[in-house]
Amino acid sequence: MEKRNLIGLLPSDIYSWLETEGEPSFRAQQIFQWIYEKKADSFDKMSNLPLTLREKLDGTFSLGSSRVEEVQKSKDGTVKFLIRFPPQGTVETVLIPHLDHRTLCLSTQVGCPVGCTFCATGLAGFRRNLTYQEIVEEVWVVEKEMGVVANNLVFMGMGEPLLNYENVHRALQVINSPEGFRKGARRITVSTVGIPDKIVKWGRDWPEVNLAWSMHAPRDELRSWLIPINKVYSLEQVLGAIKEYLAITHRRVTVEYTLWQEINDSKEDAQEVAKLLKNLLVHVNLIPGNLVSYSTFSPSSPERVKAFASVLEERGIKVTIRKRRGQDIQAACGELYRIYS
Ligand code: SF4
Repeated sequence: MEKRNLIGLLPSDIYSWLETEGEPSFRAQQIFQWIYEKKADSFDKMSNLPLTLREKLDGTFSLGSSRVEEVQKSKDGTVKFLIRFPPQGTVETVLIPHLDHRTLCLSTQVGCPVGCTFCATGLAGFRRNLTYQEIVEEVWVVEKEMGVVANNLVFMGMGEPLLNYENVHRALQVINSPEGFRKGARRITVSTVGIPDKIVKWGRDWPEVNLAWSMHAPRDELRSWLIPINKVYSLEQVLGAIKEYLAITHRRVTVEYTLWQEINDSKEDAQEVAKLLKNLLVHVNLIPGNLVSYSTFSPSSPERVKAFASVLEERGIKVTIRKRRGQDIQAACGELYRIYS
């Protein structure tokens, strides 16, 4: 019989299994602690469990299903993992250290079906959704390998999280749970290009989790060229969903805007962005584009980035300019691409 992976399994499934085996339910707490706090990678290490239970666990479950194929370290401390999930597919997961905390950037799909023209992942195509257990395992594997705890989680790696809604939702039930990784909802951010009905649903399901929306253009024609799914979900529809989300959650939305030289970075573009975002509870995060092979786009110059920011600020919109991290190992925004089958 094929063993089931214990990492990322919903706590309710572990309680049910213990009950079926005639084991007391308090054993679940010990198992959770071994998995998520101590990152035990063998049942032998679970020393406070009776030998009979360890043998039963070993006969039924595996601890992890993935294999780390490569670890790359950047000069700035960013670490990129290439993780293989059998039977098919690899994803990249990035740990970004800051002065007093660490951010972990998670992937949710092998490749991405959205196909943004400036993004290496989108250009590489789509293979499949990650399962919820695989998403949880990304956190487990990186924390275990690095011997650290990630303070912030961002779903900004490969894939569009809201197109893999059920698996991301279930993964968060484990990641956020006191019986899982115990990561606070306010320290988690889900980033989307804008799937209107899913944005509203997300606001109802996870009102405390931060939402980031990738806007990238203030007009449908330009946006549909940069983000092809805009042909299906127009700016007006996505903005309508963002307004509904804000009415549900009353929590600030981060608007991500990647700047490309003379494509979407003029002062007129900035004025249009300001008009669309007027009176909304948002914060704009400007991201100077990164050079991606196969893409002909050039990153905006620092002067154009500053000028764009000034136009927004003059109109009362809060703006930050994101620092580039992990560029020397292709770990920056839009650069993740390896999805070998
Ligand atoms: S930017 Fe995000 S949504 Fe667009 S192709 Fe890349 S991974 Fe997918």
